[in-house]
Amino acid sequence: MEFLPLFHNLRGARVLVVGGGEIALRKSRLLADSGAVLRVVAPEIGAEVRELIERSGGEQILRGYTESDLNGCVLIIAATDDEPLNAQVSADARQRGVPVNVVDAPALCSVIFPAIVDRSPLVIAVSSGGDAPVLARLIRAKLETWIPPTYGHLAGLAARFRHQVKGLFPNVQQRRAFWEDVFQGPIADRQLAGQGAEAERLLRAKIDGEAPPTTGEVYLVGAGPGDPDLLTFRALRLMQQADVVLYDRLVAPAILDLCRRDADRVYVGKQRADHALPQDQINQQLVNLAKQGKRVVRLKGGDPFIFGRGGEEIEELAAHGIPFQVVPGITAASGCAAYAGIPLTHRDHAQSVRFVTGHLKNGSTDLPWKDLVSPSQTLVLYMGLIGLPVICEQLIRHGRSADTPAALIQQGTTVNQRVFTGTLANLPQLVAEHEVHAPTLVIVGEVVKLREKLAWFEGAQASV
Ligand code: SAH
Repeated sequence: MEFLPLFHNLRGARVLVVGGGEIALRKSRLLADSGAVLRVVAPEIGAEVRELIERSGGEQILRGYTESDLNGCVLIIAATDDEPLNAQVSADARQRGVPVNVVDAPALCSVIFPAIVDRSPLVIAVSSGGDAPVLARLIRAKLETWIPPTYGHLAGLAARFRHQVKGLFPNVQQRRAFWEDVFQGPIADRQLAGQGAEAERLLRAKIDGEAPPTTGEVYLVGAGPGDPDLLTFRALRLMQQADVVLYDRLVAPAILDLCRRDADRVYVGKQRADHALPQDQINQQLVNLAKQGKRVVRLKGGDPFIFGRGGEEIEELAAHGIPFQVVPGITAASGCAAYAGIPLTHRDHAQSVRFVTGHLKNGSTDLPWKDLVSPSQTLVLYMGLIGLPVICEQLIRHGRSADTPAALIQQGTTVNQRVFTGTLANLPQLVAEHEVHAPTLVIVGEVVKLREKLAWFEGAQASV
């Protein structure tokens, strides 16, 4: 190990920065954030650096560097583009035994800046010892996506109760078990979901020796239209901690594979006329599993609240007092439109967009046609394949032009995406000709023409 990672408490300590330009600015920002008092020496100092100096209660010295500038400083940063000067600063600091960092010159450093993931008070530092800073930054980016921003609040919660818990369990083992439980269970869930007060209440109850709540929790998660890359951070995190996953046909296998390996997977349908489980039984199963103390992910294609019956499922959960979270997902309209190169609204062509289901509860396709024929409104039809001939015919009959451009997008956002464009008049024919199957989204409106204008090509964006 070339460098030993240590975390430096700089609050109120004086730090010398030699240089007043861009590089000095980046370092000064970090130093000011950590509470250091800045002393910056350079013949010229940029406005932003001057602001930081002022904020830190420090001083600016507008001239060239001299050795005595080191006096009283606990850390030295050489941030100029003058290599001999940087080397001189490094040598002087080492002579005095004060830690020194020279930007972009690891050989001249006794300390180096890591890439940082800041979830204060939780801070993660990644370093390649100066050999491959880009690699360190890429790893940092991965960590950033993996650790939700609210993690810091979790550490804050632990900090507030640390002493009390220490008093309760003098034994280190017991203490460790206590905190492991907190960080991996419902208390952490609440805190990460932004329900700090409830997390604190549960933690107090745990400290008071109350039995933990035996009820699990249900996460209604929007899995997006198919491309796993379109999942949200929260969806992925909850998928990786759930004990059971209930999913339906619209959820792509590649997405299911991102769930915790040892989670139970339960298939609950649905295909038209092939409901593996009727909706009320799905609702009941969610309730039962949660009552057994399980953390249940209910994975839904797209967004749970858009033609996803998410509302019905949470109604049932609420009626039984079961805690739940709803995680929005990218709905098929947004996903398919983006991947097919069709902007849903456009200042010149469509001032509104309407999501419509082509499949009503009673099996008919009886829509409020008069509201759907305005030429400046984009229509997005979900579940519209079966009723398509009727839909096209009725739209034309009620006044939408037969020439209105329209698109069929099958399995949008996946590698199997297929897009066919035509008009309201010939859309049903296209379905038959190309053997278009569900899941397919239908987009009707002038905006469909923009796909050609944008010279969109198939697979332009699909990443799986
Ligand atoms: N909650 C989902 C919609 C469920 S209704 C969402 O927000 O996207 C099911 C209908 O959605 C399908 O019949 C189809 O019209 C549409 N759909 C869902 N995923 C799709 C995809 N990847 N490509 C095309 N259409 C899709």
